[in-house]
Formats: sequence, C-alpha cells, structure tokens
Amino acid sequence: MTEALVMAKAEEALLELGLKRAAAVLSASVEWAAGHQATYAEFLHRLLDAELEERYNRYLQSRLKLAHFPFHKTLADFDFSFQPSIDERQIRELATLTFIREGGNVIFLGPPGVGKTHLAVALGMEAVKQRMSVYFVTMQKLVADLRRAHQEGRLEKRLRIYTQPKLLICDEVGYLPLDALDAANFFRLVSERYEHGSMIITSNTSFTNWGTLFGDQVLAAALLDRLLHHATTINIRGNSYRMKDKLKAGVTHALKEEVMTG
Ligand code: ADP
Ligand code: MG
Repeated sequence: MTEALVMAKAEEALLELGLKRAAAVLSASVEWAAGHQATYAEFLHRLLDAELEERYNRYLQSRLKLAHFPFHKTLADFDFSFQPSIDERQIRELATLTFIREGGNVIFLGPPGVGKTHLAVALGMEAVKQRMSVYFVTMQKLVADLRRAHQEGRLEKRLRIYTQPKLLICDEVGYLPLDALDAANFFRLVSERYEHGSMIITSNTSFTNWGTLFGDQVLAAALLDRLLHHATTINIRGNSYRMKDKLKAGVTHALKEEVMTG
C-alpha cells in the first residue's frame, strides 16, 4: 500500500470507530510526529488526546445547557478585591467541591448585587467540569413549578428533577414570601435532599426572618435545621457590583472637586 492509501484507510477506520476528531487530526498528527521525531506511543497519545479533548468539550457544552445557569461566569471572573467581606480562601476551598462529596450545603447571604448568584454559578460550573450533575433554579420558578405539578397530581415525578442532581442551586430565596403549599413543597424538597445531595442557596433574608418568609416558625426551624446541619454560610456585606461604575464616577467627581477647591 502507498502511504496515501494507508492514511486513507486509517482515517476510514477511525471514522468507523466513531473517532471523528482523531480522524480529522490524523494527517496533522503524522506530520507532527515526523517533524518531532516522536515515538509511536507519543503519536498515538497525541491522536487519542485530541479525541478525548473534543469529547470532553462536547460533554461540557451539553451539561452546561442541562444545568440551566442564567449566565456562565467563573471564579476567575470574580473580583475579590471589590468585595473584601468575602474570604477568598474560603471560596477557593469550596471550589475544591469537598462540600459536595460530603453532602454539605452552601448558603450565600447578602443584599442585591454583591455577587451571590455569580459565586453560586461559579461553584456550579466547577462541579459540571468535575462531571457532577448540577441544576440551577430560582426559588420563584421552583415553587411555581412544584405548585403546578402538585395541582396536576404529578408532584412526586416533578420532585425528581430537583432531588436527582448532585448539586441543586436554588437562587433568590426570600425575595417573595411563600404561602403554605409553596413552603411545604420546598420543605419536602430540602428534606429529601438532606444528606444525599448538596444545595447552594442564595438569599437576601437573614435566617431570623425565615419564619416570616415561610409563614410558619416551626417549619422554618425544621428547614434550617436540615439546611444548616452540614453547611457553610457566607455572609456578604458590601456594595453592589452593579453600582460599581456609578460609585467610581462619584469618587472621581468628589476627588475633582477636592482638587479644585483645595
Ligand atoms: P446578587 O446575586 O448578589 O444580587 P450577582 O451575582 O447577580 O449579585 O451580581 C450582579 C452582577 O455583578 C453580575 O453580573 C455579576 O457577575 C457581577 N459581579 C458581582 N460581584 C462581582 C465581583 N466581585 N467581581 C466581578 N463581577 C461581579
Ligand atoms: Mg442574584
């Protein structure tokens, strides 16, 4: 067989095996191996690595879609210097995902705009990268969905969407007070996940007000008991990042005035 024929046959075989990316980079890899006096093993490793990388990227794309994140932002996109009340080391420790392996929870508390959702998504993206199943939902959407399922007599089935993922992110707990059915459904969900799967919760409402929020002090206490049993609570105190540029403009303005008057 000529060299060209061997290449064509090899490419065909790779395609038949479903190794599309390896087939695509075959001739470039052969050239690379010749140019670098690579060993046969090195050549094979390079070829298979290209295939694996492509597969992993495809896996990531589909898992990121399934996770329903509102945006894709990572810890690298987070400016810790803007939010000094956050202990960067503690967040980096959470990003090792030990808390998920141990079935623990994370709760981000703080006013609007301080980065609660950003950090929750960043940890969620890290979990997806580590091949864990993740689902993101706002509290508002969650309770509306469970309420509808309850009315249609398929609550059990619908609950599974939220109990099965290794990590469930529930965003914006406390923006709206809940009625008895919503509170009971949420309690049910938290109880079923307790010690099986982790949750990340973000809230603008401190725990002392959860009784009012859930319209039931006893239920709120039982809920917090489960949520906080193996949990890290991160209290963020600071300015809204959304106001950053406005604040900056204000500071520059004040400085200019000082220069002019002083
Ligand atoms: P919260 O959920 O606390 O209301 P978000 O996480 O939605 O706030 O943050 C609001 C916006 O500001 C988002 O676009 C987020 O990415 C960005 N943001 C917040 N804090 C930071 C930060 N420290 N560094 C970079 N971006 C930030
Ligand atoms: Mg938010």
